[in-house]
Amino acid sequence: MAFLAVFSPTPGWPQELPIFDAHIHYSQPDWSVYPPEAALAILDQAGVWWAMVSSTPDDGTLRLFDKAPDRVVPILRPYRTRNDMGTWTGDPSILSYVESRLRRGIYRGIGEFHLAAGEAGSAVVRGFVQLAIRHGIFLHAHTDDVAVEELLRLDPKARVLWAHAGMSAGPDTVGRLLDRYPNLSVELALRSDVAPGGQLDPAWQSLFLRHPERFMVGTDTWVTSQWDRLPDIQAGIRAWLRQLPREVAEQLAFKNAARLNGKTH
Ligand SMILES: [Zn+2]
Repeated sequence: MAFLAVFSPTPGWPQELPIFDAHIHYSQPDWSVYPPEAALAILDQAGVWWAMVSSTPDDGTLRLFDKAPDRVVPILRPYRTRNDMGTWTGDPSILSYVESRLRRGIYRGIGEFHLAAGEAGSAVVRGFVQLAIRHGIFLHAHTDDVAVEELLRLDPKARVLWAHAGMSAGPDTVGRLLDRYPNLSVELALRSDVAPGGQLDPAWQSLFLRHPERFMVGTDTWVTSQWDRLPDIQAGIRAWLRQLPREVAEQLAFKNAARLNGKTH
């Protein structure tokens, strides 16, 4: 797939890095404020060339995908409404919904979904794991370190993208899990501790250098106001990416996300 062919790096650093944002939502409250063209214009302004998009309901993702199929990577959000967020692991109708929706054949992942410790054994979660393996796609999971490990243990073939690096897990915990589970990738949306005050934290920096193929950056437009902030958020991410060697910065900025989505050639 000639997905990355449009990008040919010019020598020289610092240089504006293209960003593959691993965590975008285009959910119902966003639609009237930012119609698809306006949302895509914000991505332009932020230097986000590609984005993994999941939305509540999923029709938001399809709206963006229809306008920019080379740019939007659809991830299937299992929530039909926000109410599903707290009940989905015990609701078998979610599994059939996701199974039928996947027949479109456009999705590269299932998620982002929220999973608490002790919930990974449910029939719906096990069903997601098997669907993801069968379709060759990944699971985008918002969980803590305990639950992500429970999810990874269900089947070693399952690929998991860990949202927000567990939100509060520190570099030691993240590093231990990356060492143990080769199918785990990590995205860093909302993790301001990576570069407090704009300065890359040394412990995170050494983890990025130790596992340069496993991290990606993201915004998380979980409320509409995050769309307003997206260019500033991405400018902040670029500022700490520039503190890494160029090759590692490129891996975090877009190459790892492209590979996870099967978009490299
Ligand atoms: Zn999210």
